[in-house]
Amino acid sequence: MIGFVCAGDLFYENGLRFSCKRGCVACCAGEPGYVFLSDNDIENICEATGLNLMQVRQAYVRDFVSDKGIHHDVLREYSNAKCVFLGESGCMIYQHRPMQCRTYPFWSRIVESLEKWESEGAMCPGINAGKVVVSKDEIEVQKNLFKFPEDLC
Ligand code: SF4
Ligand code: SF4
Repeated sequence: MIGFVCAGDLFYENGLRFSCKRGCVACCAGEPGYVFLSDNDIENICEATGLNLMQVRQAYVRDFVSDKGIHHDVLREYSNAKCVFLGESGCMIYQHRPMQCRTYPFWSRIVESLEKWESEGAMCPGINAGKVVVSKDEIEVQKNLFKFPEDLC
């Protein structure tokens, strides 16, 4: 069934508090998850690393095949699920990090409902923390900047 949300029904009408916790790397390591890469994300990684497209693909990108048989580019991770770009001091390509990382936690699947937002908060200590209130308009921008592949939705 296709649901709908009336304009006045948004639980984040007045914004949401979010402040990434210094020293936390929970969303860059461990299960679950993949970082999906657009062509633009891969170009940004080329810029960050100084490597060419082929080198970046060999070193940092792998193929992920969905249950529907569709191929996607995702970031490589270590056997313990830690992102290949997670270093001692955090993300090594922070200024060039993929859009999926930039827009977390304002993904459609998380801000879809208060329940989902609160549930994500169990994983991310930055959710509902700090004094920064991200406005509804900004949340709308963020959630439209990154979409999970349709075959995975
Ligand atoms: S899990 Fe949340 S608080 Fe931790 S690094 Fe990710 S965004 Fe920041
Ligand atoms: S690219 Fe950077 S921000 Fe994204 S998961 Fe890897 S370490 Fe974290």
